[in-house]
Amino acid sequence: MSKVSEAIGKFKPVSIGFDHSVLSDDIKKALPYLKNAMDGITRIFLRQQSEALPQVYDEVMAGNDEEKKSFFKLFLGPWGQLENYKSLFDEFNDRPATCAFYPVDITKEEWEEALANASEEEKEQLLDTYTVIERENGKLKATPYHEYFKEELADIFDNLEAAADVVENEELKKYLYERAEGLVTGNYRDSDATWVRTKNVPIDPVIGPFEVYADDFMGIKATYEAFLMVVDHEKGNQLKEIEDNLPNISKHFPLPANSKAAVGGMAPMIVVNQIYAAGEARQGIMASAFNLPNDAWVRGEVGWKQIMIYNIMKAKFDTCTTVIAERVSNGTIHADFDPYFYFVLMHEVSHGLGPAYRADGTPVAKAIGKNYTAIEEAKADTGSLFTLVKLGGQYGIPSYGKNRVLDSFFAGLFRSMRFGVHEAHGAANVVEYNWLKEKGVIQVLPDGGFKTDATNLEEAAESLLYELCRIEAEATPDEAAAFLKKYAEPGRDILDALDRLTDIPIDICVEYEL
Ligand SMILES: [Zn+2]
Repeated sequence: MSKVSEAIGKFKPVSIGFDHSVLSDDIKKALPYLKNAMDGITRIFLRQQSEALPQVYDEVMAGNDEEKKSFFKLFLGPWGQLENYKSLFDEFNDRPATCAFYPVDITKEEWEEALANASEEEKEQLLDTYTVIERENGKLKATPYHEYFKEELADIFDNLEAAADVVENEELKKYLYERAEGLVTGNYRDSDATWVRTKNVPIDPVIGPFEVYADDFMGIKATYEAFLMVVDHEKGNQLKEIEDNLPNISKHFPLPANSKAAVGGMAPMIVVNQIYAAGEARQGIMASAFNLPNDAWVRGEVGWKQIMIYNIMKAKFDTCTTVIAERVSNGTIHADFDPYFYFVLMHEVSHGLGPAYRADGTPVAKAIGKNYTAIEEAKADTGSLFTLVKLGGQYGIPSYGKNRVLDSFFAGLFRSMRFGVHEAHGAANVVEYNWLKEKGVIQVLPDGGFKTDATNLEEAAESLLYELCRIEAEATPDEAAAFLKKYAEPGRDILDALDRLTDIPIDICVEYEL
């Protein structure tokens, strides 16, 4: 099998349909405009990865190499997402660490020098999340996204306005107008804030530059992405009680050494079914939950939204997670969707709990440095496991019993570790696995299979949560690294089990009906 077909084969096609009858006529009228706007976002995202990519993409789609077309559709480029964005085609180079956010041949020295010689204002522009860096007459200069992608954004603006014109829901209308305006003026903040405040909307379109994952050079430039989601208010209301009880739940998270939790406004949890995605959100592995916006001011002053994408989560669970659990346990461990759903939910909630600032005011992320993400992801997982086991039956958190929670959690461990045990999320899962194994909660059988024993689950989860919060509140970067060296190394048991999963899909390849 060629490496191209192998890469495609790791994603199982799943059709994501939805019941149009739940949508009112005005919304149905708005959908084609929203789809157009989002396709524009994909065009920008292609260009952000490489200036030449939009044209290359069109040539591939116009050609007759079906395998290549499938690959480009799935990964939005010639690069393997599970291969660190290496090109899987001889005729293309690997995706550069700079993408097209910076000149491809830029060096750290050139960047540092430009920052050192820049005025305060220029420096701010260079470091801005929403600027493209170009070299002009040997000097680096920053152009704001809304100018750099002016042409694409003008079309997106028109489509968002057209959608706003036809929708009747006032909140949605206001948000769409403001967002259209924000995208072409570069003022994202006001419409981000409006988005967080919108509550009673039938559909929830998220659109704009958000995450900085693709910037492997400095980690500061955001890529464009978009999600179109139908809101499930009934399921969302079930989560309202958890939301109202966040202060009570947060009391169970330790704040060692006078550290402080983040103080945000509301963090509404929204359950949705995704009906379309674009830009980075459409590339390869699908998100099943996210929280936005990232803007520190909006998060501090207004808050953020926790989005749980029910249909994507369920499709991934049925396609990958349950199959993995059955395989590694030789059919003895059965994962179950409801506890898994709440595990993912409480993971997102847990990111907002526990230490965010140290006693001296330093943000935890800054104090720990490069290992922060692995520690924080482990904290979010462990916080989730702990709250489900200890607080199930209170504060709106369902009570599933220790065994069901543990088995669904266990399935999730191996699902995540497959994405790479050295990447931050994978490493976090190795930490949790090793800790629980040390406490006898996970046991390795002589045949290489696994068994779970929930007897010590609560103490094991609690002790790990305390250790991770302690690291966040007071450990030096070296101490954090030493902890990961001890617990984030995958043993033979993990590696052998992962070897037995190679034929199970890594993720889903979503086919939208829209
Ligand atoms: Zn997380």
